[in-house]
Amino acid sequence: MNARIRILLIEDDKSTCSYISALLDKNGYNVTTALTGREGLSLAASLCPGLILLDLGLPDMDGFQVLEQLRSWSHVPIIIVSACNEEQDKVAALDLGADDYVTKPFYPNELTARIRTALRHNRGSAPSQIYRTLNLEIDFDKRIIHLEGRRIHLTQIEYQLLSLLAENAGRVLTYNMILRRIWGPYAEKNNQILRVNMANIRRKIEKNPAQPQYVFTEVGVGYRMRENENG
Ligand code: CA
Repeated sequence: MNARIRILLIEDDKSTCSYISALLDKNGYNVTTALTGREGLSLAASLCPGLILLDLGLPDMDGFQVLEQLRSWSHVPIIIVSACNEEQDKVAALDLGADDYVTKPFYPNELTARIRTALRHNRGSAPSQIYRTLNLEIDFDKRIIHLEGRRIHLTQIEYQLLSLLAENAGRVLTYNMILRRIWGPYAEKNNQILRVNMANIRRKIEKNPAQPQYVFTEVGVGYRMRENENG
């Protein structure tokens, strides 16, 4: 059996702390909690946790400051767990290097799924050569897409966009991250070009583009592609 992965939970609300600790313990993780930003920063350095869950509303420091300080020296996966549902805050946290976020209240499965995804993307193992979920299959080597066994044809840009999302399946990518990666730094904030291409992709791969099964919109934040069942 593998050694249990240690998760550092930085959260000042004691009842949330004990709820999350019990949930993670049940799922096979070791949990250490910090009730303040300062305590969290010092434990992050001394414990070298495998992942950090960070609340943005802390008593002694702004959660964004904690995030910035952590990112100045560490690549540890960080998931924001926040009561705040403001889109700008989510985007700001992701742009500062958070891996993902979960908004309180959340379903237990939601949190554990996000943790698994963040840990997997951080492991640095060779990325999966095939994305396969429901009826969609993407072969990254051959650059071929099948839907229900039939070949789907995408433009060059559409393919780059879909494969970027598929390589990051399960995690949210902000509009700006995507624009930068596909169209370069000068395309930032040009959401229109992204929306048009996404609409075209959805027309080709989604049964009902208004209720997508593969590429989900995180309103005001970005897109998240359904988990790769192929691992
Ligand atoms: Ca709080």
